[in-house]
Amino acid sequence: AAKSAGRSCYKVFQPDVQTTSHSDVSMYVDLVRALEDCEIECYYQPQFDTRTLEIIGAEALVRWNCPQNGLILPGDFLPIVKTSGLASRFDEYVMNVVLKDQTRWANAGLEIPTVALNISFDHLMQPGFVDQVQSKLQPHHAISFELLETAFLDDITEDIAAVLAQMRAAGIPFDLDDFGSGHSSVVALQAIKPHRVKVDRQLVAPLETNPAQFHILEALTCVASLQGCGVLIEGIETQTQLQAAVDLGCEAVQGFLLGRPVPADEFAASLPASALRAGA
Ligand code: C2E
Ligand code: MG
Ligand code: MG
Ligand code: MG
Repeated sequence: AAKSAGRSCYKVFQPDVQTTSHSDVSMYVDLVRALEDCEIECYYQPQFDTRTLEIIGAEALVRWNCPQNGLILPGDFLPIVKTSGLASRFDEYVMNVVLKDQTRWANAGLEIPTVALNISFDHLMQPGFVDQVQSKLQPHHAISFELLETAFLDDITEDIAAVLAQMRAAGIPFDLDDFGSGHSSVVALQAIKPHRVKVDRQLVAPLETNPAQFHILEALTCVASLQGCGVLIEGIETQTQLQAAVDLGCEAVQGFLLGRPVPADEFAASLPASALRAGA
């Protein structure tokens, strides 16, 4: 309902339209205000070890808590963020929210999961990005990044390679998100060398109706493993899909079957007791 409220209020953004419509501009203005008024919050979706179903991390997913329109999902405002020059400011804001939430969890005596942040390509390529991240991290913080496969062209320039090398040196893991959905090539994967690939849920959904899809996933996970990358399968909604992840030997899973994105304050309570690490 929140999503449709957002849609009915703002015209759907069309990237191929040259002229900037009034609603794009008004959404931009509203977003800048939303950042100032702290209306952007993070929901957290757990990520699990495929074999044991213990929690190994969480993904931060932004929500815009708009006083007029209710909860707005990222698909309805990120296109404006990304095309209006707000991306870096927005990502930095989200990182601050995540670090604050981790501090609150630590103060409440909760075990802190490593939180994966979706980051835009623009922000990654800001001069001094890695230094800036490191300067914010305190001992109780644990973060990783998710980079969209579609943000990389086949050509991994020296600039990109340098940032990725800096992240590796700083011990900040990064995953390649939506793997298999874009124009990924084996060459790009070799150059990026992510910690893990996150197999896009578009490739997972067909498992339900088409058993041959398993072999597509098998080929993809094989390519990733040969590159030394871990594999997380996202969009797990059914037992069939979870079983496929087990049979594929992929290390991690995420999806509505196992846990939905929830606000920071509800995160710990949303987890099944069996998901908490032994001794935690
Ligand atoms: P993503 O990074 O691929 O995130 C996964 C999306 O799939 C999330 O949608 C999540 O709620 C949804 N999802 C997770 N499990 C399932 C499932 O089992 N079934 C189905 N049908 N969906 C599932 P959401 O929260 O709407 O986010 C959409 C996209 O927006 C994300 O895709 C990510 O690319 C982007 N995004 C979200 N938060 C941020 C952020 O803080 N910064 C940036 N730059 N992008 C973000
Ligand atoms: Mg992601
Ligand atoms: Mg994804
Ligand atoms: Mg996605």
